[in-house]
Amino acid sequence: MKLMKLSILMMCCALAIPAFAAKAAEEFKTKAGVLKITPIQHASLTIEAGGQVIQVDPAMGDYASAAKADVILITDIHGDHLDVAKLAQVKKAGTIVIIPGAAQKDVADGVVMKNGDTKTVGAWTFEAVPMYNLKRGPAEGKLFHDKGRGNGYIVTYGGLRIYLSGDTENIPEMRALKNIDVAFVCMNLPYTMTPEEAAEAVKAFKPKIVYPYHYGMSDLKVFEAGLKGSGVDVRIRNWY
Ligand code: ZN
Repeated sequence: MKLMKLSILMMCCALAIPAFAAKAAEEFKTKAGVLKITPIQHASLTIEAGGQVIQVDPAMGDYASAAKADVILITDIHGDHLDVAKLAQVKKAGTIVIIPGAAQKDVADGVVMKNGDTKTVGAWTFEAVPMYNLKRGPAEGKLFHDKGRGNGYIVTYGGLRIYLSGDTENIPEMRALKNIDVAFVCMNLPYTMTPEEAAEAVKAFKPKIVYPYHYGMSDLKVFEAGLKGSGVDVRIRNWY
């Protein structure tokens, strides 16, 4: 009975909200004007400001009618972050595709950034930061994300500093971040971390605002509870 109700509800929703419905953009004031961030799906999002478009991990969701990117940021080689067909959909002449070295075999024209590298494109600054597993992996002695393979990014525009965690556990480099205005922090097992661990990490670097993303079936109430009283503005949005 419960199941039936649920499936009827889902059918109704599917009729009411087309799958391609754009999610609401989040707006931020910067010294260079308004910056918008639109969640697409899972870890895929769009950043727009000054007439420019940054597509982050365009791999999940529908990109058929998406805005073409001036810059594309790829965090990792896994399919939920890098999809060459979708990447092609948001590319135009002159798009700069920033990738970690491991993505070079799939993105031959990518601009490789290593952890610690910084690149400026017009009014934007991109810093590649570590993302990796401390302990979780597919087998004993193996990690889902080896240190140095993928990039998290800090994107700066008009003085606003946005952190994109990529797929990571609660690593010391994340805990040591400074002056982050808006953070997108992953969670979800088995590949990254629990909502408790994510909340612990966020408490350590205290961004002004945090959006949990890449959360799958994680319990966001646990994440929220872990940050209660921390002063961090936790913003839950529907990424699926
Ligand atoms: Zn992932």
